Amino acid sequence: MARLTLKFGGTSVGSPEAIAQVAQIVSDQRRQGHQLAVVVSAMSGVTDQLLQAAAVAVAGDQAACQAINTDLLSRHEAVINQLVGSPAARDEALAAARGLLQQQLALCEALRALGEASPRITDAIVSFGERLSSRVLAMTLRERGIDALQVDSHACIVTDNNFQNAETLWEETEARIRRKLLPAFDAGRVLVITGFIGATPDGTLTTLGRGGSDYSASIFAACLNSDELHIYTDVEGVMTTDPRLDPRARVLPYVSYREIGELAFYGAKVLHPKTVQPIVNRGIPLRVRSTFNPAHTGTLIGGRTRPSATVIKAVTCIRDVSMLTVSGRGMLGVPGIAGRTFLATAQAGASILMISQSSSEQSFCFTVVDPLAPSVKVAVEAELRDEIQHNAIDSVDTRSDIVIITVVGSGMRGTPGVAGRVFSLLGERAINVLAIAQGSSECSISFVVSEADVERAVVELHSLALETAEIDRANGQGSYC
Ligand code: ASP
Ligand code: MG
Repeated sequence: MARLTLKFGGTSVGSPEAIAQVAQIVSDQRRQGHQLAVVVSAMSGVTDQLLQAAAVAVAGDQAACQAINTDLLSRHEAVINQLVGSPAARDEALAAARGLLQQQLALCEALRALGEASPRITDAIVSFGERLSSRVLAMTLRERGIDALQVDSHACIVTDNNFQNAETLWEETEARIRRKLLPAFDAGRVLVITGFIGATPDGTLTTLGRGGSDYSASIFAACLNSDELHIYTDVEGVMTTDPRLDPRARVLPYVSYREIGELAFYGAKVLHPKTVQPIVNRGIPLRVRSTFNPAHTGTLIGGRTRPSATVIKAVTCIRDVSMLTVSGRGMLGVPGIAGRTFLATAQAGASILMISQSSSEQSFCFTVVDPLAPSVKVAVEAELRDEIQHNAIDSVDTRSDIVIITVVGSGMRGTPGVAGRVFSLLGERAINVLAIAQGSSECSISFVVSEADVERAVVELHSLALETAEIDRANGQGSYC
């Protein structure tokens, strides 16, 4: 018997058929005697619809807002009608869904009256997606004889008030989860928990950022002392690259915590970047697997590393980013220019994805997401106004037609020649590299190329990864650790 936390994403609960499949997985795991905490996303598309409802409410379009509400109700009703057979339970589930969606409509009405939406009220509105899906799944499980307890995570996950991207307050969260959930969990009840949602210490709803249900699941896995965390999604595991860019992409059987951190940060959409944080120190293994092909073992993510020929395990890219370059002869030996630039960038609300500076100190560049690039440029130019006026620094140059490509693999640590191989290959194929960065963790190399070159670059580098994986296979190393 193991203690497992299972997380099901939006497509896994996106239709009556998918939810029935989830119920099947849960009852199979239950039959094997496992103790289960199940964390769910909203049905696919629902979070987007709720955000849309808030937007049309602010714009004063009551009809559009009502139409979204009606559509959400009928989607959830369809699931309940199909999966919850006994009349009393079905009526209870339908009443719960209607009650929640009435509250959602009332909040949107308030937005319409105000003509604006704060991040705080937006969080309250998007919370309904998970509150609905978790109730529907719990009812479905009960219908199949499983003792399921629906749990609203805002009673357990305590956060700061950074609405839409809240940070967990750990001590309080751990204490609450243990106090409120352990008794039921230990008594063998299956917990069915909303992903994505938390609350401030005074009880105001918050959310953990888009895609944040993965992170919620990891918080519960850590605080409930789970033996494993399984993230069920619509792909079979973590892949060597995006199969839309290269159909030869394969599922990686094993990825380390550090590697998945780099992959998630640099554009592999499979997990929320914060997912491994709560479980790394506790060494809880994480498995990414498919709801629709549960026999596939998926990708195991853990702390192990093993020498391997596969230095480059995966290739990812981030599109929709811009590169800003600060240059000028007057920078040489002047301390503080980079510091002030990055502070101004932070004040403009942008995170920096990659930084590169040449040692001649005549320029450095960094990348931020496209929508924030114009305001970062303005903020940095304002910060460096004096230097620009005295021609010590040229104006800040922005390019938005670029992509960050990252090759990931912890085997590159201490292995000479990896960067050499990567860049010679790109050189041979006449792909121009605009900037390069390698972190001292030596677990990834990132570089910037023009958008026009991205497909070619990814496919070439992916070939390199696949070749080395073949060497491992020939050596009988099934998992390329
Ligand atoms: N429902 C939320 C979203 O779509 C959280 C999640 O699914 O992880 O972003
Ligand atoms: Mg997701």
